[in-house]
Amino acid sequence: MDNISQSPHRRWNPLRQSWVLVSPHRTQRPWQGEVGQKAAPQVVAYDPACYLCPGNQRAGGAANPAYEGVFSFVNDYAALLPDSPPPHDTGGSPLLQAKPARGICKVLCYHPDHSLTLARMTQAELRPVVDAWTAHYEELGGLDWIEYVQIFENRGAMMGASNPHPHGQIWSTDFVPDEPAAETKAQSEHLALTGCCLLCEYLAAERAAGARLIFENEHFAALVPFWAVWPFEVLLVSRRHLGALPELTGDERDALADALRRMAVRFDNLFETSFPYTMGFHQSPSDQATHPEWHFHAHFYPPLLRSATVRKFMVGFEMLGMPQRDITAEGAAERLRAASEVHFWPRI
Ligand SMILES: [Zn+2]
Ligand SMILES: [Zn+2]
Ligand SMILES: [Zn+2]
Repeated sequence: MDNISQSPHRRWNPLRQSWVLVSPHRTQRPWQGEVGQKAAPQVVAYDPACYLCPGNQRAGGAANPAYEGVFSFVNDYAALLPDSPPPHDTGGSPLLQAKPARGICKVLCYHPDHSLTLARMTQAELRPVVDAWTAHYEELGGLDWIEYVQIFENRGAMMGASNPHPHGQIWSTDFVPDEPAAETKAQSEHLALTGCCLLCEYLAAERAAGARLIFENEHFAALVPFWAVWPFEVLLVSRRHLGALPELTGDERDALADALRRMAVRFDNLFETSFPYTMGFHQSPSDQATHPEWHFHAHFYPPLLRSATVRKFMVGFEMLGMPQRDITAEGAAERLRAASEVHFWPRI
């Protein structure tokens, strides 16, 4: 084919305004179809040792209620606190800067059943999770001192998740963190320069090209971004221009639940394992400004490369130079398109 599928090149990420090095010639050997042994998901619906299961005691001493739907609480070991004193004097040099950092960190259990994951929950079970994310975004973002609400999930021990119980986190901060700040800058500049939304324009280009699209439903599109760094990185984009969860209609909330589930099933089926990832939403900051430039989306950053056990590492040139990948975004999209939407390990 063309050079982009065969020769080393750099690709521009307009959302972060950074480059990624692509080295497709390193993987021209045919795919071996290597998969690990089928890894059974958790089988117990209730684990007496799990600090997230209904009725159990948490490390901080509090007991969970016998919850039946979603359940949230303030993280017992929160990374940010609502009342932290300003940092001490750092020594007078302008190069030694520190600023106060306040926030609220919450944990959201998606379901009382310990054995479930996003991939093995139904759309009807996921809709209340979407509703809870929306309510938390509104509540936390509505506080006058909170500027950003970051909703995310770490899935799997490989991503440092300490507990397999289906849950995610919601960290809200009195500043806009670096990643959404970079995307705010990029989207603002694109809007000012062209009069168009960056991601509306990008989605139109991807739908026209087709090579990196995985699937669409009525309101969302899942694709491997042109500039993907992680082997099977995915961007889930709303097809309508909107900035944040509260702007979703009821139908769009259902469509988001559907798209998240279908994407997670495809991931699990790829290597017949409970696929690890960090997933999270990027949306309008909750500062006092209006954000016409912001286009709601989710990122999936999964570490796996070739099998249930072979992962990508960000080391060497990637730590010192820039991110690099071997399989192309087009190749990854092709494999995710081919993956089934029927989970390899069905629920009984
Ligand atoms: Zn549990
Ligand atoms: Zn847009
Ligand atoms: Zn983003």
